[in-house]
Amino acid sequence: MQIPNLITHIFFDLDHTLWDFERNSAETLALLLEKYHIASGNIPASNSFIAQYKATNSKMWHLYNHQLISKDELRFRRFREAFAAVGIPIDFDVDKFGEDYMELCPRMQHVFDGAHEILTHASKKYIIAIITNGFIEATYNKMNYSGLMAYFKPENIIITENLGVQKPHKKVFETALSHTNGLAQNALMVGDNMDSDIVGAYNAGIFPIWFNPHREEQFQHENLIEINTLKKLMDYI
Ligand SMILES: [Mg+2]
Repeated sequence: MQIPNLITHIFFDLDHTLWDFERNSAETLALLLEKYHIASGNIPASNSFIAQYKATNSKMWHLYNHQLISKDELRFRRFREAFAAVGIPIDFDVDKFGEDYMELCPRMQHVFDGAHEILTHASKKYIIAIITNGFIEATYNKMNYSGLMAYFKPENIIITENLGVQKPHKKVFETALSHTNGLAQNALMVGDNMDSDIVGAYNAGIFPIWFNPHREEQFQHENLIEINTLKKLMDYI
């Protein structure tokens, strides 16, 4: 697959691609650990919880994306499992902790460097849309509080919770194209997740661009375009 000669549509993933999930999540968890007096004053313990949560949460999202667990299982099991994994006793209301997290985290405002510049440029030149596996209410809060909403038409926010299947399912990408009157061969998908964004787009005939800001994984493929900053996307659009 080659990058299209004619690009008319650009689809963006939200979490970990435009909206800095890791940073927003870590700040939320630090606030909540304080609020619940968990690992009080014990910075190594709270840091190890934050790191563990990242791993547990990403494992749970993978299961959710493939319809192997429900939304509620995802929302609540990730906290129980992460606390258990680092040996922090759950002698507090862990479900309330999870609810507070869902309330607070989407209001955090960090986006990746270059997000506003790239969207300012792309929104003038192309039809742009969001395709996210995130939850409906959380998605609108993230986009509104961070200012990202300004670049997108509301009908171009495609939230898979409304579709009943998640990325990487082909139906998601087909729906995004039909919603925005686009053709797969004229579209790009920019996302961080190798499975849901990159393989998903590829299987739907959409050219993927892999955003890998932390250079966490290595994935070599001759035609795969990898960018480590959002500004680098300017080279292609
Ligand atoms: Mg993502």
